[in-house]
Amino acid sequence: MIPAMSEEITADYFIAGCGIAGAVLATKLAKSGKKIVISEQGPRFSETDRAGMLLRARETLNDYADYNDDTDPKAVTAHTSASNGEQTVDWTALRLFGVGGTALHFEGIMSRPFVPDVEVRTRFGYGRDWPIPYAEFDATLLLAEHEVGVAGDFYNPYATPRSGAYPMPAHEFSYYDREIFAPALEKLRIKTHSCPRAINSRPYRDRPACQGCRICKFCPSGARYSPDRDHVPKLEKRPNVKIMDGVSLRRLEASPAGDRIVAAHALRVDEGTPIVVRAERYILAMGGVETPRMLLLSAQGSVHKDGLGNQGGQLGRGFSDHLNPYVTIDVGRPVGSRLGFETMISDYFRARVDRRRQPTFMIFSSPAMDWFPIGNEATTWATTGESLSLKDLRESIPRMATLSTMTELEGQGVLELDENKLDDFGSPLAKVTLKLTEWDRQGPAKLAELAPKIAEAMGAAHVSEITPPEFGLGYHPSGTTAMAKSLHDGVCDPDLKVFGLDNLYLLSNSVFPHMGASPPTLTIVALALRLAHRLEGGR
Ligand SMILES: Cc1cc2nc3c(=O)[nH]c(=O)nc-3n(C[C@H](O)[C@H](O)[C@H](O)COP(=O)(O)OP(=O)(O)OC[C@H]3O[C@@H](n4cnc5c(N)ncnc54)[C@H](O)[C@@H]3O)c2cc1C
Ligand code: SF4
Repeated sequence: MIPAMSEEITADYFIAGCGIAGAVLATKLAKSGKKIVISEQGPRFSETDRAGMLLRARETLNDYADYNDDTDPKAVTAHTSASNGEQTVDWTALRLFGVGGTALHFEGIMSRPFVPDVEVRTRFGYGRDWPIPYAEFDATLLLAEHEVGVAGDFYNPYATPRSGAYPMPAHEFSYYDREIFAPALEKLRIKTHSCPRAINSRPYRDRPACQGCRICKFCPSGARYSPDRDHVPKLEKRPNVKIMDGVSLRRLEASPAGDRIVAAHALRVDEGTPIVVRAERYILAMGGVETPRMLLLSAQGSVHKDGLGNQGGQLGRGFSDHLNPYVTIDVGRPVGSRLGFETMISDYFRARVDRRRQPTFMIFSSPAMDWFPIGNEATTWATTGESLSLKDLRESIPRMATLSTMTELEGQGVLELDENKLDDFGSPLAKVTLKLTEWDRQGPAKLAELAPKIAEAMGAAHVSEITPPEFGLGYHPSGTTAMAKSLHDGVCDPDLKVFGLDNLYLLSNSVFPHMGASPPTLTIVALALRLAHRLEGGR
């Protein structure tokens, strides 16, 4: 067999991963005219692909079709999972590999962190503080909301005050949110407010306003932000940017002295052809699991024998995510249809709980008919003894709702290489051990306590037990390459430069020292804007 010829490419910036992080960063850097090369392991998805998925989703009752269904298995690093010892969550179907990354199918909730979220160690004695003061971060969060287009309302009685308005007004509240969810919480003296969404409420950034068609994972109109419909096409018009899809980064090579990266070794996944990229600067934007995994896979020499950036022994430590427990409620009257996304949430439990005793969480609720697998509860409630009443079952479905939380974790988990499980190229997969603490378990326990009260305030007929009892992850993996002031506390500095390496930067939620209850993506976009500014010499 003739050995595959190696291709060699040079660039000013090499970015691995073309999810929202890589795409936003590249867009900003591209303005400098410097040469940018992006390697993306997954494929490109066309509008025809998207239409096909949409039809399949419709045929299979909504959720059971997705972007990676037909992807070459080699381009998907499958079967990476998190475990708490008893239960295991497989991430294969959640994270996406392809131009656009996981944000191709994200829900677009763009909540901000609050001041206490970035000062948890100082204020409450757990987790790690961020090395960047919130005040410095606030302006960048605002820019990030404008960069992707977030619809939201200034009014949020629990949030850290904002320095500016959202670029678009919030979506009108759905019937369910306005007539059922908000009045029930009001009875418990809990205020509700709009849920900030990267979904256009009016035309914005060449994308139309939401059409209310309720298939948001594939959003046929483009109203929901997706990198492949916004930043990526703009990037591709730039002659100085090259996006290589189907190209997987396999390893970074450090100089003999170990003080800089001299090459990125990648492979074309279909042909197995090696590609070597030599760049001035290298940025890993491969998501919260593959970014730390790449640093571990690139262990070499005496300086980096335990992985790049790991002289302080921090790489892989501090893994966190969100727990997403939920209950099903038979509200006792028709709840209407889901708009496709929740228009309302409450941040009450992000601001008003004693964090020394329990985690914070966001709470939201939704008509369940076309969303959650509600069959179990509906069937149970329509069954008396051995006999199932189809009439009761049919009548109950339009009354079903779910109530769920996005719950903070302390962040005690560990990410390491699993030498027993290899990907298609023979490299160990990442293995995450979650290590839930007693404090972590208080979050789902609080939902178990609250749900019957909220259901009663709705006048509901039934409320289920929590599903899953304590362990359902949001796929917001974070924390294992934390930014810190010193290598003894993290893997990269506040400018996201890896400790000990002059030209390697990280951009993913793995750099979060701590993640409160808000989902991560707005913060990732803000970090992308900040990194682009820093790389181009700004302070
Ligand atoms: C169902 C779902 C709903 C979500 N909803 C929300 C939400 O409402 N709000 C929110 O804030 N967050 C949400 N998230 C999380 C959100 O999608 C992620 O935080 C965000 O997309 C992460 O972006 P990223 O660019 O950092 O990483 P990713 O999107 O994971 O992109 C990383 C890219 O790197 C590529 N890659 C990986 N390994 C390699 C390699 N070796 N070589 C080259 N390329 C590689 C991958 O193919 C991928 O395209 C949701 C996630 C899921 C699964
Ligand atoms: S309802 Fe969902 S799918 Fe329809 S336009 Fe709005 S965001 Fe897109």
